[in-house]
Amino acid sequence: MGDRKTAVVTGAKRGIGQAIAIALAKEGFDIAINVRGSSSVEEGRAVAKECMAFGVDADVFTADVSHFEECAEMVKKIAIRMGSIDVLVNNAGITRDTFIARMSEAQYDEVIAANQKSVYNMMRQVVPVMMKQRSGSIVNMSSVVGVRGNASQFNYAASKAAIIGMTLSAAKELGGRGIRVNAVAPGFIETEMTAVLPEKVREAMAAATSLKRSGRPEEVAEAVVFLAGEKARYITGQILCVDGGIMM
Ligand code: NAP
Repeated sequence: MGDRKTAVVTGAKRGIGQAIAIALAKEGFDIAINVRGSSSVEEGRAVAKECMAFGVDADVFTADVSHFEECAEMVKKIAIRMGSIDVLVNNAGITRDTFIARMSEAQYDEVIAANQKSVYNMMRQVVPVMMKQRSGSIVNMSSVVGVRGNASQFNYAASKAAIIGMTLSAAKELGGRGIRVNAVAPGFIETEMTAVLPEKVREAMAAATSLKRSGRPEEVAEAVVFLAGEKARYITGQILCVDGGIMM
């Protein structure tokens, strides 16, 4: 193991998580690819193969990150299999969009569990490992929706705003232990999550950016790699918007 460093990426079988795993592998990190369950292992293995093409080690680990015990089991397995946990990227997330007056309790609870509690579930397990190492870097996936809000995303906005508060609190608490905590807040990125939106909405989102286009998963991944790695060693508690200027 020696100088090798391991990055854990949640929800890494596709979309932004996949791009992050590959970009971190390109930087020389060994990669622990989290997928939700056994039905996603094949897709996870395909991403692992792409990572290993850069000469690093990579493996797939299953856990529904909204479940505390599954995260505890998975993090134990990752620490044994990979040897250390140097970077944690809390990327997994879902949407259950609808208007407040129609939002079911299940739609609210599912989003909070998958997007927000998952960050607690994973950090609760990984932070003690990093504290022992006296080093580590955590990048949480927020969203511009967590800062600006969005009609029909009351639940999602709650979860993404909470991630900002969690990131800032953890950065204050853990800086003295050599652990940096930052967040990335993407704008409108072309993935399966946004592919379900009507063409009109997608066009309007792109038009609302200063750069007049939607973003690509690789463009978010590059920001994550920067915050995760040594080049950002004096940066903690930052929320970096990767949004083509939609927040201005
Ligand atoms: P995506 O293509 O839908 O990918 C999300 C991934 O997370 C999927 O692989 C999914 O696996 C996984 N996941 C969801 N819940 C999980 C759970 N409980 N346990 C384990 N894995 C789980 O979405 P994406 O666009 O790449 O989004 C990645 C992150 O970026 C999310 O946090 C999202 O909120 C955030 N984000 C996206 C955008 C955007 O415009 N796309 C903008 C801002 C922020 P399953 O298929 O098995 O559920």
